[in-house]
Amino acid sequence: MFFISTRGENAKVTGAQAIVKGLASDGGLYVPESFPTVSADELRDMLQMSYPERAAAILHKFLDDYDMAGLLSACEAAYARFASPDPAPLVKIDDGVYILELFHGPTCAFKDMALTLLPYLLRTGCDMCGIKEKVLILAATSGDTGKAALEGFKDADGVKILVFYPNDGVSKMQKLQMCTQDGSNVGVVAVKGNFDDCQTAVKSIFSSAECAKRLKEAGYVLSSANSINFGRLAPQIVYYFSAYLDLLSSGQIEEGAEIDFCVPTGNFGNILAGYYAKRMGLPIRRLHCASNLNNVLTDFFKTGTYDIRREFYKTTAPSMDILVSSNLERMIFEFSGRNAALTAQRMAELARDKHYSVTGAELSKIGEVFDGGFANEDEIVETVYDVFCDTGYTMDTHTGCAMKLAVDWFEKNKKDTTNMVVVATANPYKFPQDVLYAVTGNDVRDSFKGIKRLHAATAMKVPASLASLKDKPVRFNKTVSADKLFDEVLTFVSEN
Ligand SMILES: *Cc1c(COP(=O)(O)O)cnc(C)c1O
Repeated sequence: MFFISTRGENAKVTGAQAIVKGLASDGGLYVPESFPTVSADELRDMLQMSYPERAAAILHKFLDDYDMAGLLSACEAAYARFASPDPAPLVKIDDGVYILELFHGPTCAFKDMALTLLPYLLRTGCDMCGIKEKVLILAATSGDTGKAALEGFKDADGVKILVFYPNDGVSKMQKLQMCTQDGSNVGVVAVKGNFDDCQTAVKSIFSSAECAKRLKEAGYVLSSANSINFGRLAPQIVYYFSAYLDLLSSGQIEEGAEIDFCVPTGNFGNILAGYYAKRMGLPIRRLHCASNLNNVLTDFFKTGTYDIRREFYKTTAPSMDILVSSNLERMIFEFSGRNAALTAQRMAELARDKHYSVTGAELSKIGEVFDGGFANEDEIVETVYDVFCDTGYTMDTHTGCAMKLAVDWFEKNKKDTTNMVVVATANPYKFPQDVLYAVTGNDVRDSFKGIKRLHAATAMKVPASLASLKDKPVRFNKTVSADKLFDEVLTFVSEN
């Protein structure tokens, strides 16, 4: 399987090259040349498989340049780091409504589903590409990618990782998770501005030949742990399959039945993986795209215009505080009939004019699969509270956005009997004060008091990795402006 750029660069690359490079030289994102399919027979075979076996089978369809046995043992090692025997358990909370819990990994957010595996894909990919230099991973994070990437890459041979996060754009727990990170090859820097400023600055380093040259002189090649990297996307396809297979094997759906997913969305990576699963033949009917107050995607699905000329809100679901959803580029590329010139033009318009539109014909095709909606701050609180009262289930604020959309959908479509899987992206203890407030109405200033009280209110198990943060020393506390990131990068690679 080869990969091509959404913006039309002529060169095709292998899976290993796509993962090592992260971003195509023309600034586009790598997409598979075509979608591999999973037949009904293959799906049936997967019923008996463990999660790592399912993962290896699906990954190998895209990454057939990787060795199957190697992939399988990497998947087994990655998912053995999860706190639950099943890394992606499905919980039924009502008739026809399920929660897919993706937060049982080392950092308690769904990013672990891919970032526990990415180091293997990248290191092996470098060997396959004959790369002799060390690898520098740069990541811009809205909170959860940074920590998951740091945990995944810490002390990895031949790799250094530097994470940039928006100074005031992440939760206290997220910040503490990153700034206390151990490992000899890691760095964490706060950037003045919001996530979009941070992501734009990091992307500009990736697309600069000058930066690449100077890093090469220092003995490094650049790679990305952000969800623009196909190595992030591919492992996320797996849990859409596994949720479907779990519904099938527990007899909750019949073979071939279609289901819906509702996904809390920021950079559009998670939900895009669901779309890829659908293109591979998984019977998914609709994908509901949930946003918070930063509802640029909601408007896009309604109007066909993607317009970032709007206020940016800091919300209690900070990992979704994003205006430029990078992976949407892959989606509009597909719905344009894989028109790379048009995709490049639209991305140029977005950079220049801050908006672009798809055609009416494209929008109606998109609407057959996707719809969007959002939860404002009060609605997040109400939804988390209602679900807790009605079912005893505690969800985090991001998952609350998706649940609000699912509830709205069934309000509007009372006769719809299609099963809905709401994707849960973070452990509630990652946002303890906000979840505590939603569940009990209590306001506490301190995150660890929040954890204690949330535990008292819900009896939900506290992840050790979060509880222990209290006593960990802070190692990183530097803040820089967005135009100074490359200086930070050069300093970081020169340190030992
Ligand atoms: C990253 C993240 C999201 C958004 O996922 P995307 O793939 O960027 O759309 C939602 N919720 C949480 C908790 C996250 O960490």
